[in-house]
Amino acid sequence: MANCVNCSEGMEWLGFVKADVFESQLNGRPTIDIVLKCPHCGQEYNTFELVENLTPVGEF
Ligand SMILES: [Zn+2]
Repeated sequence: MANCVNCSEGMEWLGFVKADVFESQLNGRPTIDIVLKCPHCGQEYNTFELVENLTPVGEF
């Protein structure tokens, strides 16, 4: 389990902040900026994911 770099508590779940789509300046592809936060101290974390990597929920 990952621990928060700010408060060292376990991040067994994360609070939702935002998931904004923008056009990547690197490759021009639609990209999602996903921001989540530590439920204990509010430290925010982000990652990027290409929109084309999304899959419909429920499909296997
Ligand atoms: Zn924290």
